Amino acid sequence: MSAQLIADYVMGVELPPDVVQELETHLESCADCRAKLTSFTPRDVTLLADRVWARIVSSRPQQTRPARFLMSCLIVIALVALAVILLSALIARG
Ligand SMILES: [Zn+2]
Repeated sequence: MSAQLIADYVMGVELPPDVVQELETHLESCADCRAKLTSFTPRDVTLLADRVWARIVSSRPQQTRPARFLMSCLIVIALVALAVILLSALIARG
């Protein structure tokens, strides 16, 4: 079993159920991997958490969400303004 897989397991990273099953079965029979499992200190876990967090942050598209939100706000405002202009034109004519 790879140290990375065991690390992911310790960290609670979501792994395919068959992989978890395989790992747990392996851990029951492999003292080496059990030792690896218990060798993770809180410091290691913190480092791993940082690495996982960095992966999450870097995989997230940068700034698209606020930009898209701002764009939809502008579109809504433009549509409302257009509706007001059309309505007042109709009323003025009426
Ligand atoms: Zn092993």
